[in-house]
Amino acid sequence: MGLCILCEQEPPIENSHIISRFVFKRMKQGTPVKTLRHSSRPSKPIQDGIKRPYLCEGCEARFSKWEHYFCKTAYDPYRNGAKELFEYDERFGLFLASLHFRYLTHLCDENGKTDAGLGTLLERLKQVCLSEKYSQTRVYLYVAFLHPVESLDRGYPPGINTYWFSAIDGFAFDWILPPDTKLNISFVKLPYVATFASDVPLETVLTQSKLIEGNVIFTEGKVDCNATEDCILQFMKEKINTRAIEIGGFESNIPSGQRAKIREQIEADPDHKISERHKVYKLDRKLLREWQDIKGE
Ligand SMILES: [Zn+2]
Repeated sequence: MGLCILCEQEPPIENSHIISRFVFKRMKQGTPVKTLRHSSRPSKPIQDGIKRPYLCEGCEARFSKWEHYFCKTAYDPYRNGAKELFEYDERFGLFLASLHFRYLTHLCDENGKTDAGLGTLLERLKQVCLSEKYSQTRVYLYVAFLHPVESLDRGYPPGINTYWFSAIDGFAFDWILPPDTKLNISFVKLPYVATFASDVPLETVLTQSKLIEGNVIFTEGKVDCNATEDCILQFMKEKINTRAIEIGGFESNIPSGQRAKIREQIEADPDHKISERHKVYKLDRKLLREWQDIKGE
């Protein structure tokens, strides 16, 4: 079965999550339908996120300390409507590094090969997790707290709110800037927050770099959850929009019998009209009407 991907000393436990368990737990809490769907197989309800034999017990425990910290400091407060700046310490960056480390490992496994640049980024993330020290020397980490999109003016398609608040997504890519800068970037989006890891500081290449100050993660500091996500997401907007259309519209790929049953379950929940999901659904319906008006339908 091999060894733990982090310490390379102990055998891994069989069911270690790629995306932390707390994320799935909260996704299921937010809906009367206690199942999840994968956009590539929407007709099949699933109970949990992908697991792989990656981490040993000790490393899993190390990661879960950081997960707990992230949840308590930022994730849960933001989901519950907090608007202030979040003060954080080194554990914030360590959590992000652990998230991207697992995600990139999984991506490379799925592809059967590791691109040299992403391999370097992966190795650096691993070093951060092993040393339990995050300083912005080898890896640069960013977060963008996601805000409701109320109008098409911001350049996102209908479905974006579902994507923002109800979906997990991720990809890795390189970004080549003339004359000779190459960035290797990994992107992981949880419901409510988008995160990045890069091997080159994004603020040196993003033109409106001032705007992303609130999104840069240092060893310690304050993260501004009011900072707009638009600037930091600009260089990958096309990708995000494609995913939003795909994920926001995927309900229609669920067989109609199943869909009717889900609807029934939702309607039967007395709280559904005040639920987070319903608000997100209403926002996307509003964007869709705006979209149809423009198209003259
Ligand atoms: Zn280990």
